[in-house]
Amino acid sequence: MMENALFESHFDLIPFGIYVVDAASYTLIYSNKAFIERFGDHHGRICHKALYENDAPCRHCRMAELLAPDGLPNGATQVFEHFNEADDRWYQMQVRAMTWPDGRVVKYSIAVDISELKETQNRLAEAHAELALKNIELVRLSTTDLLTGLANRQHADARLAEVLARAGAQGRPLGLIMLDIDHFKAINDRYGHLRGDTVLAALGALLRGGVPVDCEIGRWGGEEFVVLCPGMALDAAFRLAEDLRRATHALVLETGGLRVTCSFGVAAARAGDTGESLLARADQALYAAKSLGRDRVEAEEAQRPSIEDA
Ligand code: GH3
Ligand code: MG
Ligand code: MG
Repeated sequence: MMENALFESHFDLIPFGIYVVDAASYTLIYSNKAFIERFGDHHGRICHKALYENDAPCRHCRMAELLAPDGLPNGATQVFEHFNEADDRWYQMQVRAMTWPDGRVVKYSIAVDISELKETQNRLAEAHAELALKNIELVRLSTTDLLTGLANRQHADARLAEVLARAGAQGRPLGLIMLDIDHFKAINDRYGHLRGDTVLAALGALLRGGVPVDCEIGRWGGEEFVVLCPGMALDAAFRLAEDLRRATHALVLETGGLRVTCSFGVAAARAGDTGESLLARADQALYAAKSLGRDRVEAEEAQRPSIEDA
């Protein structure tokens, strides 16, 4: 038939596979050049047998969805992605039923190889996942002090603002402890900077293990740390600081015999406090502890009412 030959030669120019299957017998009645180059010429054979060595129609076959109850084409086009195990490639399939020039009802399939697209998609998804993980790591790195594993100053400062705001909103107390290693310069001078680093790391671990879980610790400066103590009024924060002070005496084991002491200043949030004003009072108390002989805890003078009784 003239039209037939015409469209068949036309289809051979199309760079993706086209094949036509008799809807009643599943016989392959036409395939274009691109299809034959890829899958071989199976003209006249049963589709599922020839392509997949299946005895029954393939599970992904959409024949049933393409036919009206009377067996005629229902006009629908089905589009789906299909992984072809015969050649390990992904295809976008477009299938519809139609009436072939010879009058038979057929399934007409276009198979576009989308393996590279899939590959790109997968790589993109992997890259996204990797990026997400890297971002988490970046956040961790940018908020953590590498030597001690504690929050760095910037992060501790941000946390202070948040914790202070929450304490104010909830009407709960907030204690703040500031501590500083005594005569640390002398330790560095005598034993070297590396031993000094060991002391800092050991002190960081001690602080982490020595405070309740809802406390947050930051490395504020070189050998200076802050502990945020939600729920603790001045007296409770003072007792915690005293516990930590005593614990630093035990550090001698982990620092290879070096004796380390720290001085502590304690303050508690008051109505109208900013992070800065609260820190300033803890810092003053710390300064007092230093001038009163070190290895001791001093609290701010509690005169004005604190948040919880405001
Ligand atoms: P004070 O009891 O008055 O606090 O005396 P100090 O010697 O501890 O205080 P000072 O501020 O004079 O010295 C702090 C020292 O901390 C100086 C600096 O070399 C040391 N330091 C700061 N950061 C680090 C660090 O990351 N590693 C080491 N090993 N030392 C550090
Ligand atoms: Mg010091
Ligand atoms: Mg200092």
